[in-house]
Amino acid sequence: MHEVAISEALLEQLASLAEQHGWSRLRRVWVRMGLLSGVVPEALEFAFSAMSPGTSAEGAELVLETVPGHFDCALCGALELDRVDFTCPKCGGPLQLVRAGRELYVSGVEPMDP
Ligand SMILES: [Zn+2]
Repeated sequence: MHEVAISEALLEQLASLAEQHGWSRLRRVWVRMGLLSGVVPEALEFAFSAMSPGTSAEGAELVLETVPGHFDCALCGALELDRVDFTCPKCGGPLQLVRAGRELYVSGVEPMDP
């Protein structure tokens, strides 16, 4: 239950952001996650909606954005994918992972208040 801990950390961060800015409720929260963050988006969404009631993020829409990873195909060259794959989607050849991130962070917040 990795996602529960992540959700808890996100909610803490959102609570302090809301306090700093005087926001009572949040409408939408954007989170960017690297391809190798190991987070299952559905599990994080579930944890977030289960844990946010009673906080400023209650009912907020969680928008998860995956940061694509960089891959290299011997035939097609460099390409970006938003999932880890070792088979080239263009030619079916072997694909090598060159670089992908493990990051997970809040990239945007839209408050409910004007
Ligand atoms: Zn290819």
